[in-house]
Amino acid sequence: MLDEKALAITPEDEGTERVFAVETRTGHGVRRVRHARHVVLAIGYYDHPNRLDVPGEDLPFVHHYYGEPHPHYRQRVIIVGGGNSAAESALEMCRAGAHVTLVHRGPELKSTVKYWVRPDIENRIKEGSIAARFNTVVTEIRPTAVLVHSAGSPAGATDVELPCDAVYLLTGYRADSAFIQQAGVRLDERDAPAHDPETFETDVPGLFVAGGAIAGADTGTVFIENGRFHGEKIVQVIASRLARR
Ligand SMILES: Cc1cc2nc3c(=O)[nH]c(=O)nc-3n(C[C@H](O)[C@H](O)[C@H](O)COP(=O)(O)OP(=O)(O)OC[C@H]3O[C@@H](n4cnc5c(N)ncnc54)[C@H](O)[C@@H]3O)c2cc1C
Repeated sequence: MLDEKALAITPEDEGTERVFAVETRTGHGVRRVRHARHVVLAIGYYDHPNRLDVPGEDLPFVHHYYGEPHPHYRQRVIIVGGGNSAAESALEMCRAGAHVTLVHRGPELKSTVKYWVRPDIENRIKEGSIAARFNTVVTEIRPTAVLVHSAGSPAGATDVELPCDAVYLLTGYRADSAFIQQAGVRLDERDAPAHDPETFETDVPGLFVAGGAIAGADTGTVFIENGRFHGEKIVQVIASRLARR
């Protein structure tokens, strides 16, 4: 069903058989419960941004998703992050006429930045068309500025104030681990759900995970290229069990 969010998955015993009650709510607010012998969690991770948890993060000019550059023509834009999303949006916004400052907690861009993006962003930083502050974290977001703190600042130094018109916190995303855990699945220390890598069945029999949802905090390990094969394997496993019934 489209436009319908799964709210909870609860294992129930029906005679000798285990079924799952899947509770959902539609975009119109209608709640339903459906029952199924097998459930596949293919919920990805893009719905849950990694938050900085700093004051001001929910101000209206602060975004966790990048859309398009043109509204930021001639604006001062702060982009927080050091991965592909940060690098690619910085380049686009810079080319669309924004004044971009990249703020990253690491000493350099992440090693996962695509090899064809890296020289472009590094050269824009080198020539000064994109400003970059590495080893720097955001401590607060105010209505007209971001406060940042750089590693190595003298003890007691006040945070630096960077005036800005828009802020993009492109610091990654993570699967809804609370939802997965609520279904009874054990998570490891990186929030990855316990599952058999051959069948993608979790430690709750009949409940499977596929795609980005298997990655926990390490979302960089699942791409379209590998994640798309999970579903095929799961369907084979379920079909062979049903054939034996
Ligand atoms: C910014 C970005 C760029 C990327 N670029 C690339 C790339 O260039 N190449 C590449 O191979 N991979 C890329 N990826 C990774 C790729 O997007 C994922 O590997 C892939 O989308 C995972 O597919 P999925 O089906 O597991 O999850 P998704 O495609 O995220 O689909 C999950 C769906 O489940 C829905 N959902 C979540 N929770 C619920 C719920 N409780 N009830 C109902 N529905 C729910 C979500 O809304 C979503 O529609 C990128 C990811 C990001 C975030």
